[in-house]
Amino acid sequence: MRLVFFGPPGSGKGTQAIRLAQKTGLPHISLGDMLRLEISQQTEIGKQIKSFMDAGKLVPDSITIELTKARIQQPDCKNGFIIDGFPRSLAQADAFDRMLKDLKIDIDHVVYFQIPVDLVIERLCGRVSCPKCGAVFHLKYNPPKKAGVCDRCSSELAQRTDDNETSIRTRFEVYEDQTKPLLERYKNSGQLATLDAGQLIDDVFKDLLKLVGYGGN
Ligand code: AMP
Repeated sequence: MRLVFFGPPGSGKGTQAIRLAQKTGLPHISLGDMLRLEISQQTEIGKQIKSFMDAGKLVPDSITIELTKARIQQPDCKNGFIIDGFPRSLAQADAFDRMLKDLKIDIDHVVYFQIPVDLVIERLCGRVSCPKCGAVFHLKYNPPKKAGVCDRCSSELAQRTDDNETSIRTRFEVYEDQTKPLLERYKNSGQLATLDAGQLIDDVFKDLLKLVGYGGN
């Protein structure tokens, strides 16, 4: 099963992708996590993209397209994957279509995380995540068992450098201008499946399982 998770920042794509990956064994491909890893490892790519990410802007398409192309050809993606955070622009969607065609594979569902904007801002402001394993928590809605410590790998949790008011505003503008237009494209392709992402995490997950055919088990 090949899935693309699509929606505004803070809509819970990453949280649900991690859960679904655990349940299905499918790899979770988070472009944001891949890019943050480049930055923390101070690679050439990391140096080029840090200022874009901190400001909440999209990093250049050439970088995300190449990273995605290489990642989906890894052996663990043979039976499917969950992509979260790509494509995020029309140019990326075109490149993605070409990649899929070349690899002779297809996407089963583009899952749209639909959510009102005021909810998303509250979620982003209380979000903390694990710089090491990418686990995501919320101080109010999904707190870690021990304050400041990752449940999964015991690393120290941190607020993302782009979870500040200015960057959050820019990320919304970028979403509206560059990413949201993809909705029409996927609606027309018949691949779009819409999820009510404003519910509690467990309820969103139940709906997601039904939507992708796991029947809520
Ligand atoms: P996320 O972790 O999905 O919220 O992404 C965090 C940041 O990573 C975004 O604000 C962008 O700066 C960058 N990013 C993630 N995915 C992409 C993409 N497909 N294209 C360009 N930039 C991206």
